[in-house]
Amino acid sequence: MFPYPPYWPQQLLLPTIDTYRDPGVAIEILDAQGHIRYYSEGDTATSIPLSVATRQAVLAGQPPILYTTNVDDEHVRVEALPVRAPLGNSEDFVVNPDGTLAHGGPIIGILLVAKSLNDIDSALFLLKTLILLSGLATLVGTLVISWILATRVLRPLTGLVITARAIAASTARGTRLGNLSQRVHRHGRQDEMAQVVDTFNSMLDSLESATQTQRRFVADASHELRAPLTTIQGNLAFLQRHLSELPPEEQRTMLADAHEETLRLAQLVEELLLLARSDANEDRSVTAPEEMVVAEKSTSLQPIVELDHTVLQLVRQVRRRLDVEGSQVKLEIGHIEPVRVRGDEESIRRTIVILLDNALKYTPGNNGANTGCVTVSLKRKGTQAVLHIHDTGIGIGPDDLPHIFERFYRADRARSRQGTGLGLSIAQTEVERLGGRITAESTLGKGSTFSVWLPLA
Ligand code: ADP
Repeated sequence: MFPYPPYWPQQLLLPTIDTYRDPGVAIEILDAQGHIRYYSEGDTATSIPLSVATRQAVLAGQPPILYTTNVDDEHVRVEALPVRAPLGNSEDFVVNPDGTLAHGGPIIGILLVAKSLNDIDSALFLLKTLILLSGLATLVGTLVISWILATRVLRPLTGLVITARAIAASTARGTRLGNLSQRVHRHGRQDEMAQVVDTFNSMLDSLESATQTQRRFVADASHELRAPLTTIQGNLAFLQRHLSELPPEEQRTMLADAHEETLRLAQLVEELLLLARSDANEDRSVTAPEEMVVAEKSTSLQPIVELDHTVLQLVRQVRRRLDVEGSQVKLEIGHIEPVRVRGDEESIRRTIVILLDNALKYTPGNNGANTGCVTVSLKRKGTQAVLHIHDTGIGIGPDDLPHIFERFYRADRARSRQGTGLGLSIAQTEVERLGGRITAESTLGKGSTFSVWLPLA
């Protein structure tokens, strides 16, 4: 039999408390006034703090209260539960699934169960340290990888910048194109950056070769212009000094020479102007891919030229000139088909005249037993009009043939004839501007055939 509540036994034996105690767990039982009545082994009498509010809340029958506090500098989690007195007999104890009494006598005390949080705290500390360290390692790793990637990606760009700056610095005065022989290294790469570097290098290749060509052209032009000027200057100076002593025949010859040289000079200047103009037109028509489309459209907007009419008309004109000059070279008309092309008629006429003049110039009237002959024919081949100008002249050697379209190039055998070495370059530039091309076939001593290919209208 239990005494009726409220009561508190003088001696309460609770062997099971210590039996179930874990290491780091302390248990205390307090009476309603908050005095410690029992405590588990190893616990100290003043160990687990309990605020007045919590004590009153537990005594008022509220559900178990959990709080965190410090005991002797140790971080602990405490659960405060009410201790009820039995009502009379043991059957009155009905235990809830959570371990509390479903009903019983009045609350006579408080059970405090404290569990040290040291393990959890140190595990948390370890976890925090690990997270911090791994975060730091990730950060450092990311920085290092980004740095490596950035340097790898940017190294060729730095090369580009340095090279471009070096070229810009050496051309700063605008008077000469700087050291274009510099190239950027790819550093063994195969990616998009390598493509950028390759494109930059090939742009430098083109610029370098264009600059060299231009320098050579200026040097050649100066040389070609100086030669007739020297003759004119020399002849006139000689005539001025010795006019009275010279026989009239010699005076006439010297004047005729000077006059001929002025004609040559005039032709040279005329051809140089033509080339400069063609280059300027070419620069305007071929600049960027989008503009090429515009250029193609503009070619299609050009007037239609009846090429067969133009050819026949030119042949008639040249024949009249040959008659006047008493030339023995025959100018024949071969197979001529009616053909229409688009383009500037003046350019087309200039090209045909250059080729006809060359064919006649390099074809001796009397070539041994055979009379020199130039034949002009015009036909369609697919979408192209092809104009052939065939001659039975001196021909061009295989060493010279690849160079005849270069500016100022003249084969040695041609040196005895008048010429500037610019005619074929002009013809080629004009034809290419019309979207066509010129080809040449030749056998030394037998003759040559120049073919002009132009797209049909
Ligand atoms: P040129 O004023 O010397 O004729 P071109 O540019 O017209 O200059 O021709 C370049 C060179 O090509 C000539 O010097 C000549 O050696 C050669 N050539 C051109 N046309 C013929 C041809 N029909 N027969 C033989 N050689 C030719």
